[in-house]
Amino acid sequence: MADVVVVGAGFAGLSAARELTRRGHDVTVLEGRDRVGGRSHTGFVGGVAVDLGATFVGPTQDAVLALAAELGVDTMPTYGRGKNLIRWRGKVRSYRSTIPRLSILELLDVSRIQWRFDRIRSKVPVDQPWKSPVAAQLDAVSLDEWLRSVHAGASTRDLMAIMARVTWGAEPDAVSMLHAVRYVAAAGGLNRMLDVEGGAQQNRFLAGTQQIAQLMAAELGERVVLNTRVRGIARHADRSLTVTTDGGRHAAAAVVVAVAPEHRAAIEFDPALPAEYDRLSRNWPQGHLSKAYAAYSTPFWRAEGFSGEALSDEGPVFITFDVSPSDAGPGVLLGFTDARTFDPLPDEQRREVALAGFSALFGDAASRPLDYVDHRWGAESFAPGGPTAAVPPGSWTAHGRWLRAPVDGIFWAGTETADRWTGFLDGAVRSGLRAADEAHQELARRA
Ligand SMILES: Cc1cc2nc3c(=O)[nH]c(=O)nc-3n(C[C@H](O)[C@H](O)[C@H](O)COP(=O)(O)OP(=O)(O)OC[C@H]3O[C@@H](n4cnc5c(N)ncnc54)[C@H](O)[C@@H]3O)c2cc1C
Repeated sequence: MADVVVVGAGFAGLSAARELTRRGHDVTVLEGRDRVGGRSHTGFVGGVAVDLGATFVGPTQDAVLALAAELGVDTMPTYGRGKNLIRWRGKVRSYRSTIPRLSILELLDVSRIQWRFDRIRSKVPVDQPWKSPVAAQLDAVSLDEWLRSVHAGASTRDLMAIMARVTWGAEPDAVSMLHAVRYVAAAGGLNRMLDVEGGAQQNRFLAGTQQIAQLMAAELGERVVLNTRVRGIARHADRSLTVTTDGGRHAAAAVVVAVAPEHRAAIEFDPALPAEYDRLSRNWPQGHLSKAYAAYSTPFWRAEGFSGEALSDEGPVFITFDVSPSDAGPGVLLGFTDARTFDPLPDEQRREVALAGFSALFGDAASRPLDYVDHRWGAESFAPGGPTAAVPPGSWTAHGRWLRAPVDGIFWAGTETADRWTGFLDGAVRSGLRAADEAHQELARRA
């Protein structure tokens, strides 16, 4: 019998377990995968640690930054010296500022749409977006429908599609405008969310993000049980709960479910949860995003005056970053790839199209890496998808109020339930701390 069973050993579940342990509770964390970290998973390319999932952190992400500092994990700035590249309408151009090199009319249109988006943002309360006076109106349309309704130009729409792809792993027609506005508000605005300097991509961890989860798990020791998929959660008349796995049963006084809302649907609740919760998990789908990394002996593009940062409206590679450890090498390019055209390809072809994307931007030398690796989050066999939920029109107003409302000793964590930096590591940590506090208060009330 544990005081609290935590389901999921991502940043949310591990943060919750750590906080509950600190407050004197017996905790067991059950994780379905054979590793901790969830959507934070560090792999290797050319001997360099690279993040197959979450990579970057930035200012105002104070919860994850405080956690990393406490665990002794340092950040380093994302490389940004030199010219950025944009591959747009068949041409590759370089630019120096943060503003992509488009025509003056295109840039004016981008500013106009950003201004309109930001004005709506102030009307949507992040904690209860369904209460906004414009909630029904915004949740009735997708981001794409809204862009068309305000006559956004083709380049603005294509840039917003790139933003949607990297942010939610989905196209603008799949995401509710209310969700888009609320999500950006939780990040502190479009610039804060999209920028490198001063934004969410400003820094990264040299040895990857998963080490933070591994350090939390090491502290928790035997309390973390891997390869243990939770199949069911039963609630009893005496207010105790039983968590069922393939390997056995765990009794608990409270449960923190720290999995993405979509993955709650794979857990059988007995008695069934109120119907609203079931409808929520079936209408809060994860997006699909993939990444490709290529390693070279040196970051040769730096010597040619390029930052390694690029945007593309063509091919599966649509954003790149330089994540090399140093000027001396190895040189490592990160490419975000469009899951729709990238994921169905066989291994060799994925490598070919990713390298063709890198070469179109950085020249022929990019086609001959020392090593290559990619990862498709939508193709994971267990708890697939990411970076985060791509919430469709209608879901927030119909189901949003049940996203984290506790039910009979069951508390909900996971980055999707956070009000600040939802969808990011920071939101995951915040959600874990919040759910731990709720479970602690409940147990204190009962004691
Ligand atoms: C490609 C990609 C790039 C990203 N880039 C960034 C970035 O640069 N910066 C950033 O801040 N964030 C980024 N993110 C998002 C970030 O990874 C997530 O916000 C964060 O990791 C979510 O943490 P979590 O604990 O809420 O959920 P998860 O990490 O998904 O953890 C949930 C855990 O629960 C487990 N689980 C699910 N169901 C069960 C079950 N029934 N029984 C037992 N265990 C179960 C899962 O295996 C998983 O380990 C990225 C994500 C992806 C995929």
